[in-house]
Amino acid sequence: MLKWLPIPFCLFSLVSGFALAQNIGEDTDNAPRPVKLVPPPPPGPVYIRCGALFGGKSDQLEQNMVIVVERDRIKQVGKLSPPAGAQVIDLPNLTCLPGMVESHTHVFLQGDRKPGQYDAQLLKQSVAYRTIEATTAAHAALDWGFTTIRDLETEGAGYADVDVRNAINGRLIWGPRMQVVGRAMDVTGAYPLQPAYAWDVPVPIGVETVDGVEGARKAVREQLSHGVDWIKIYADRSGRIHDNILDTIPTFTLDELRAIVDETHREHRRVAAHATGLAGVHNAVEAGVDTVEHGNYISPEDMKTMVAKGIWFVPTPYVAEYDAEWRAQRAGTQPQESPGLKIEENTFRRALQAGVKIAFGTDVGAFEWDMSPARQLITMVKWGMTPAQALRAATIRGSELMQMQNDIGTVEAGKYADIIAVEGNPLSDISVMQKITFVMKGGVVFKK
Ligand SMILES: [Zn+2]
Repeated sequence: MLKWLPIPFCLFSLVSGFALAQNIGEDTDNAPRPVKLVPPPPPGPVYIRCGALFGGKSDQLEQNMVIVVERDRIKQVGKLSPPAGAQVIDLPNLTCLPGMVESHTHVFLQGDRKPGQYDAQLLKQSVAYRTIEATTAAHAALDWGFTTIRDLETEGAGYADVDVRNAINGRLIWGPRMQVVGRAMDVTGAYPLQPAYAWDVPVPIGVETVDGVEGARKAVREQLSHGVDWIKIYADRSGRIHDNILDTIPTFTLDELRAIVDETHREHRRVAAHATGLAGVHNAVEAGVDTVEHGNYISPEDMKTMVAKGIWFVPTPYVAEYDAEWRAQRAGTQPQESPGLKIEENTFRRALQAGVKIAFGTDVGAFEWDMSPARQLITMVKWGMTPAQALRAATIRGSELMQMQNDIGTVEAGKYADIIAVEGNPLSDISVMQKITFVMKGGVVFKK
């Protein structure tokens, strides 16, 4: 009998510990009561009258549609008339769409492409200050019409993205639905600021340094325990072009990558891999990661593997265009298309042809949040997607990547009332998506 005693005792303390933890933040008299900037959704029903609707399933716009919203969900969509006295939001000259999904953001970066920008954020700003900036970036994301984002690492700000996500979920601040990765992982010596300063000057680093198979498993466990939704790894660095191929230096060994993927999947989470060129993408895909970020060059063989394994591709072409633009601006010349961008375009076109699953993500944060990430839709159409395909990459496909397709990604009964609206027809001019004039998230109007 006696030897069984410690088990129920331990279980009891474990359970009561959880209960205590859950009480923090509950609405008891002496619990903290923060100011909440976001009101709860009205009970409804609220009728949104849209001049046109891109619901996300067909390639056509439907004219004069009404979306009925009850609390945070869509109740009905159709050609119906609101009853007399009903609460109506009238958008007769606008096209309604599902809230967009940005699958690759950095709310903790306020620009990192120009010399010194990245280092200044890590060296001169506290994590507290950067978190305040992250909340303004999250606010901007929603303002640009992105009601859901996957934020792919804090660049030295630890797990503060978990806090931003939770503050948004708790209605303290305005922001999109977020999935976050916390610190991300790279191997010793591969990530800034470490290799950029004198060896005897201690500097912060933008990721968690992880080496070896055991170290990899431990890091995954540790990061997941802090509440991240994904594990993000850097599979390669640097790059050189030969024979129209971008090759890179792999960071992790294949064994290390496999350990990270295995440990993450065992805990029912997924792995996002920064992989820009031949070797990095190959290793990431072989190890079975879930998303390839950037993928500036992907070999035809690796694309086949991606299709077979259902691995997502999140190309980020706008960052390269942005680089060309600011460099030209500084030099007083016209932006030059780089050989690297040509390779990216070729990869994008081949991926489209091969049927690789493509979701919209831009790396915003690398470029500043004062411009809409939706500008990348223009590039994606220029590179061979139809406008409807590009919109789906930024709506339903993004929701699938985030495994939220039952809740977001289309304007359909039962889903969250995440609805945006624009002037004009995005199917004939995709550039209008940069100017969102109406945003509703979960039944609450953010912008009108
Ligand atoms: Zn990124």
